[in-house]
Amino acid sequence: MKAVLDHVGIAVRNLDESLAFFRDALGIEVDAPEDVASQQVRAQFVRTGQAGLELLESTTSDSAIGRFVERRGPGLHHITLRVEDIRSALSELRQRHVKLIDDEPRPGAEGALVAFIHPTAAHGVLVELKQTVAMTASVEPIRIPFGDIELTVLSDGFFYLDGGAMFGVIPKTFWEQKAQPDDRNRIRMAMRPLLVRGARTMIIDAGAGDKMTPKQVDIYRLERDRNLDYSLEAAGMTPDAIDIVLASHLHFDHAGGFTASARGTLRPRFPRAQYIIRRGEFDDAMNPNERTKGSYFLDNYKPLADAGVLQLVDSDSTIMPGVRVRRTGGHTMHHQIVMIESGGKTAVFAADLLPTSAHLPEVWIMGYDVLPLDTLAFKRAFLREAIEREYLILFEHDPNIAAGYIRERDGKRYVEPVA
Ligand SMILES: [Zn+2]
Ligand SMILES: [Zn+2]
Repeated sequence: MKAVLDHVGIAVRNLDESLAFFRDALGIEVDAPEDVASQQVRAQFVRTGQAGLELLESTTSDSAIGRFVERRGPGLHHITLRVEDIRSALSELRQRHVKLIDDEPRPGAEGALVAFIHPTAAHGVLVELKQTVAMTASVEPIRIPFGDIELTVLSDGFFYLDGGAMFGVIPKTFWEQKAQPDDRNRIRMAMRPLLVRGARTMIIDAGAGDKMTPKQVDIYRLERDRNLDYSLEAAGMTPDAIDIVLASHLHFDHAGGFTASARGTLRPRFPRAQYIIRRGEFDDAMNPNERTKGSYFLDNYKPLADAGVLQLVDSDSTIMPGVRVRRTGGHTMHHQIVMIESGGKTAVFAADLLPTSAHLPEVWIMGYDVLPLDTLAFKRAFLREAIEREYLILFEHDPNIAAGYIRERDGKRYVEPVA
């Protein structure tokens, strides 16, 4: 198992007093304190590079930290090791007869899963295991009633992309705290097309599809044992019930599922559907350059033109009542997001403008983007709008959070997931 030191927990009598040393005397940056009601503590994170310090003050006398300070005085309380998969880590430890405090992981701060190992097993140190991103990632459809429209988050499984490429100029020491890379430096990404049932039945994007070669399956570590076929069926849908297929853009992880191969020939995967694609995007995808050709595969969209099911759209427009597209540029010249408005509320299919919740900071922009400064300008304005108007954001690639609201508190932005 791969375990990385996440932080060292220090029990203190009084947070404010402890800051006189850690913040003022040592001059280390600290985060705002956080109340962890479930453990009856106030926690303050001290930023000491890749692994931090966590100062813990008990808010009641009978909490674990309170009893610890009572008995032994303030001091080193625990160390926390980050693991990729906490359940398999625990089962490995159980097999080796390591004494555990928690047999099953329990929820920690910020959606993490945690479990404690008994100090007698760890030479006198209380060890906490932590999986930062809860692997609760479900492939089951998520139904979101939305006024006159019903949204259903679908799944085409998962794939992996290079973490460095996913975060552009952001150093690994920062992004790996949000998205842990595998042994080939790749991070896990979901593919979540969106089913929109309103005046008509529409699917936005369609995942990677089934045409990848074994080599590509290995490069992108495709996990698609439960793919879009499964997801559609679980949502009570069949491919021929889809009237409209709408593309955010034509990269393979969005358009791969637009076509299917049957006995050597490629055909539209949704037999009755009109495929709506932005003209500029279609032209760029038909003529990729040296830098973009790794993501544009003609087999995903050229057969649509040949079958006469393509409808090219030139500008921001309404696709069906309550659903309109809006060009962002940046990621690709003609990349677009989809605004869904109903019952006074707005949901946004953010595609690769905000691929995951980790991409919330304005400059956390993918290295793949052809015009990153255009992404930055659009994203900056869009985030303000999304916070003010409380848009429900649908994250197409986030492995854990399918949908959430962007909130701002004390100048800090975060995603509040919807269950
Ligand atoms: Zn893309
Ligand atoms: Zn993508």
